[in-house]
Amino acid sequence: MSSRYNSILTEIYNEALPLKQTGTVANYIPELAKIDPDKFGIHLRTLDGDDFFIGDSDEKFSIQSISKVFALALAVSLIGEKVFKRVGVEPSGSSFNSLVQLEYEKGIPRNPLINAGAMVVCDILIDKLKHPKKEILNFVRKLSGNQSVSFNEHVAASEKEFGFRNAALANLVKSFGNIHHTVDEVLDIYFHICSLEMSCRDLATAFLLFANHGKLPNTHEEILTKSQTKRLSAVMQTCGFYDEAGEFSFTVGLPGKSGVGGGIVALHPHKYAVATWSPRLNAKGNSVMGMKALELLTTKLGSSIF
Ligand code: GLN
Repeated sequence: MSSRYNSILTEIYNEALPLKQTGTVANYIPELAKIDPDKFGIHLRTLDGDDFFIGDSDEKFSIQSISKVFALALAVSLIGEKVFKRVGVEPSGSSFNSLVQLEYEKGIPRNPLINAGAMVVCDILIDKLKHPKKEILNFVRKLSGNQSVSFNEHVAASEKEFGFRNAALANLVKSFGNIHHTVDEVLDIYFHICSLEMSCRDLATAFLLFANHGKLPNTHEEILTKSQTKRLSAVMQTCGFYDEAGEFSFTVGLPGKSGVGGGIVALHPHKYAVATWSPRLNAKGNSVMGMKALELLTTKLGSSIF
């Protein structure tokens, strides 16, 4: 199997390369626009602990919205199903920072993986944690097994400076009473989690939790129950790619999550987690080469969850 994974990753890498010039780097967060657009890496880690990787897979990048899954997992581990009283589980069919649904759905975000939903999750974390930033960081470090995972303060500051739309979202949710702390506190946590920097290796390692029924693969410590893990994977499957969640299900067929830093991470329950990174994005904010690489992966392996 291992030589098969190795040769498949090489094939995928080469077949995705012609898309190198397609798409644009996120530039609405100026600090993100500084990234080298030609970076491309893939890391696949199996539940048996085997690693397969190619390209810039060990370089850290801004994980952006992928962090919403970590925030959600931590919130669910703390208060369980109650999270879903304040945020829905339906795909939004809208962009990640859309304001319109929030108005007519009275400040209950469609799901926890769009910006407004993640802000409600951040509000819950502020409520439940004494030192939210530190404890979120420790949680992500534990899942990834990498103590050097950190926030990038420049990215967080850049997001804050240009975060007019995110401020509008937080204020709108707050006006409906679904944010309990101050808008500034919530945005501070939100911008910091988005600024987390991790490599494809770190992300693949961390997402093995969801492939392993909520238990850390190395220590078997239970972070989430089986049922919670199933629900989180379901939310990733239906909502992980904003208004392209259908497309990702259709072409890749795995639960996953993307971020505007160009990262995508996906998992095959009971088998593996895989992360890709290429900063050029399509119009929906998803990495062009990452989407292609994962489509090729499940096609060549002949297996998805369907
Ligand atoms: N920090 C980004 C934002 O709030 C995250 C968006 C994303 O990765 N889709 O706009």
